Amino acid sequence: MTGTCFDRSILNLTGFQKNLVKEFYGSKFCFYCMAIPEHLSLTIPKSDLPRVVIIGGGFGGLKLAKGLRKTNVQVVLLDRNNFHTFQPLLYQVATAGLEPDSIAGPLRQSFEGNPNYFFRMVKVTGIDPEKNEIETTVGNLAYDYLVIASGSVTNYFGNDQIKKRVLPLKKIVHALDLRSHILQNFEQAVLTKDKSKLQQMMNIVVVGGGPTGVEVCGALSELKKHILPRDYPDLDFSGMNIYLIEGTDRLLNGMSKASGDNSLKYMKRLGIDVHLNTMVEGYENEVVKLSNGNIESSTVIWSAGVKGNVLDGIDTSAIEHNRLVVDEFNCVVGSNNIFAIGDVAMMKSEEFPNGHPMLAPVAMQQGVHLAKNLKKSFTKKKMIPFSYFDKGSMATIGRNKAVVDMPGGFHVKGLLAWLIWMFIHILYLIGFRNKLIALNNWIWSYLTYDKGTRLIIRTFHRNKMKSS
Ligand SMILES: Cc1cc2nc3c(=O)[nH]c(=O)nc-3n(C[C@H](O)[C@H](O)[C@H](O)COP(=O)(O)OP(=O)(O)OC[C@H]3O[C@@H](n4cnc5c(N)ncnc54)[C@H](O)[C@@H]3O)c2cc1C
Repeated sequence: MTGTCFDRSILNLTGFQKNLVKEFYGSKFCFYCMAIPEHLSLTIPKSDLPRVVIIGGGFGGLKLAKGLRKTNVQVVLLDRNNFHTFQPLLYQVATAGLEPDSIAGPLRQSFEGNPNYFFRMVKVTGIDPEKNEIETTVGNLAYDYLVIASGSVTNYFGNDQIKKRVLPLKKIVHALDLRSHILQNFEQAVLTKDKSKLQQMMNIVVVGGGPTGVEVCGALSELKKHILPRDYPDLDFSGMNIYLIEGTDRLLNGMSKASGDNSLKYMKRLGIDVHLNTMVEGYENEVVKLSNGNIESSTVIWSAGVKGNVLDGIDTSAIEHNRLVVDEFNCVVGSNNIFAIGDVAMMKSEEFPNGHPMLAPVAMQQGVHLAKNLKKSFTKKKMIPFSYFDKGSMATIGRNKAVVDMPGGFHVKGLLAWLIWMFIHILYLIGFRNKLIALNNWIWSYLTYDKGTRLIIRTFHRNKMKSS
């Protein structure tokens, strides 16, 4: 598509994609025709080796790319960011517990010294299975094997009004926006004479009682108890309310009942106002409309769910509930050289009739497994069906409080669970530097009750927010 004003893929770009292209190419970008200048292309050299194109350097894509090392293939990894995001710790960035750099790792670093590996920071805009090509913001690329590991996007359940006003937590920019918003809010509160406006600013509503919602609430309650009163001595934090709104009758639905019950106990102990069986129906003029009442708040954090990030071009018969239906080898149904792994993939089985849970271990295991299977297919060997090994799940609810479900039905709570949670998260963070920084921050804040990153580096304007 380079340089051609009337190229189909350029005309198909959405407003958001056009903005992204403008951000990437600045003054070199042709604003009139929305075309990329001729000198830009993906510049992937031609090779006799089979080309595996991976869309997304998240948990699944990265494991797959690493698994294909020392294989006679050309690997092209495409991601709209040049870094991998450790999403389970996004809430810590949002609540000033960790710096954003410590939960992200540069994707290029993973491929150093590998002449057949190529990384390109581009957004993939579509797939053309008939031509075996993908379309990106800088042109098309042919593939022999395509792996879609594009993850998921925030699910607003079709409510555009909510989408425009609430604060999601899916990307590092979201976490930074949220951190700025929370801190700006208190800076504004200090300046406010109007009591009802002040109360709006002191009320924070978290929507969704899954692990993210529970973890955000725990971290906010720590800010309220230990940090904010020191930073803002002129405000009365006994008037700060944290609400957790959950549509079903329990917290942590994907975990055991014991974990749900214990997390509810912890929430109550921390003073979080939990509303179960309650739906958020709208949010306008700083009023959250609930199925059973209203709450005035200038901060609504949306952690109510995600849906698969399905790219244009795949036949609709292979899409179910916003995920790509794959067989037991992660091959997209109806295709023989397009695969999908992680959040975007739906592999149905007797054990998982609606597909696997959208969790990092599923994506990582599928990435590792698909690398092995692709190697088999290059040598004409039989592929092996994927089977998920559930190592357990966990959520933390602030200092010394966590719940862990282990394989075999074992449930751990409290300090031991909290230590397990920390150990596992340090273990899976990418890069030794990140592990060290995160551990250092946690030890520091544990000992001093301090959080170092209460900075409004860039002011957040809700009207300019980019969702998804
Ligand atoms: C706030 C939060 C907390 C979570 N906590 C936990 C937890 O505690 N435990 C757990 O197991 N799971 C957790 N998860 C879920 C976990 O992060 C996901 O299951 C996991 O990231 C899925 O991996 P993936 O490889 O499928 O996608 P991702 O890791 O999301 O990676 C997708 C990649 O694709 C890229 N991409 C997407 N679209 C395009 C495009 N069009 N062009 C180019 N690149 C593109 C993205 O930039 C991204 O790098 C959490 C998720 C969130 C949002």
